[in-house]
Amino acid sequence: MSQNITILGSTGSIGKSTLALVQAYPEKYQVFALTGHQQIDVLYEQCVQYQPKYAVMATAALAQTLQQRLKSVNCSTDVLYGEQALCDVASASEVDMVMAAIVGAAGLKPTWAAVLQGKRILLANKETLVVAGSLFMQMAQNKGATILPVDSEHNAIFQSLPKHFSKGLHQCGVESIILTASGGPFLHKPQHEMNFITPEQAVAHPNWRMGQKISVDSATMMNKGLEVIEAHWLFGAKANQIEVIIHPQSVIHSMVRYIDGSVLAQLGTPDMKTPIAYCMAYPERIDSQVEKLDFKKLSELTFIEPDLERFACLKLAFHALDQAEDAPCILNAANEVAVAAFLEKRIAFTDIAHIVASSLDYIDYKASGSIEALLEKDQQTRAFAQAQLKDYKYVS
Ligand code: NAD
Ligand code: MG
Repeated sequence: MSQNITILGSTGSIGKSTLALVQAYPEKYQVFALTGHQQIDVLYEQCVQYQPKYAVMATAALAQTLQQRLKSVNCSTDVLYGEQALCDVASASEVDMVMAAIVGAAGLKPTWAAVLQGKRILLANKETLVVAGSLFMQMAQNKGATILPVDSEHNAIFQSLPKHFSKGLHQCGVESIILTASGGPFLHKPQHEMNFITPEQAVAHPNWRMGQKISVDSATMMNKGLEVIEAHWLFGAKANQIEVIIHPQSVIHSMVRYIDGSVLAQLGTPDMKTPIAYCMAYPERIDSQVEKLDFKKLSELTFIEPDLERFACLKLAFHALDQAEDAPCILNAANEVAVAAFLEKRIAFTDIAHIVASSLDYIDYKASGSIEALLEKDQQTRAFAQAQLKDYKYVS
């Protein structure tokens, strides 16, 4: 029987890869809703091809324009707009699974709506767990929602852990989980040149094709920091049970270290269609059409310890996890503002870490205890970080 899927953020990198798999298995998956924020042309093409019941845009004006364009080609998709519509298409009773692939804390509310309805959630939007991991995992358990990690590292760990890992890592004989990191495009760049990095250089990731925000996060290694926090919530791992190792080839997607000395890893060609296919078909497997890993062509697999002074954002993320309470929410919000400002050439690459650090210094960590209060803290942090921008400038 075919399954109904809502793809939040269908016009992005993860969204498009998900649709490629839907296209490959039309008998297995049916698109219920697609969402594209402001990307009207891409969403138009996707609606014509996949004929979803609903499409969601950011504003009424965009929705009206898209609705008219779709009508003129006899496409019956209903176009909605705004955050409530995102929540509605994520939680509708007809939906079997939700791909959460909106970027940033903007993905939190719609993913939360899916959790409240006990959906099966394919979680790419790591920021949701960074901002609200504790509430999110608790509610998923209460409502019987299944959370399947799409992020390649967490997907690798999920595949390498015993099935009953939720009883506790220690009880399962797990010593630690090992997140691999590519190190991004500036792994070997001399420190004194880091100031002059341009957005164009930062988004050119050596191994993965991704959206702009996560590409910058990979270059600063904030992405790995967010993933440390994500791993903490997904697998119940304490900070001292999470290792990070740079592995520039991105062939080993992550590993689990057991107390008997065994290390289990998941390997593959770096292509997000593999973890996406894993989550879509779970607990079965489908062909993801990803190029097979050819061991004869692999010249070497290398490993480097990350330098936390060089990658200050990774250090700040470990610090935020240590502080607990709302510190990860503050870290994430400040980072989103700083990355956007860097992409607009308003601040330098190295200023991203400074803005995150000063936000962590200034904003109160005290635990919010509800999604609404966390989103307020997110807004408060954004306002503070925005106000900081004037003290920095882009250099090239
Ligand atoms: P992207 O920038 O390519 O796409 C983002 C999607 O979110 C688009 O559909 C966009 O229209 C939508 N969007 C943006 N702002 C929005 C807003 N305010 N409200 C509603 N929708 C909005 O990003 P991506 O690379 O596909 O990443 C998506 C998520 O998946 C991120 O959280 C990222 O960290 C995570 N992820 C991505 C990859 C990857 O390889 N791309 C790997 C692991 C995890
Ligand atoms: Mg990842």
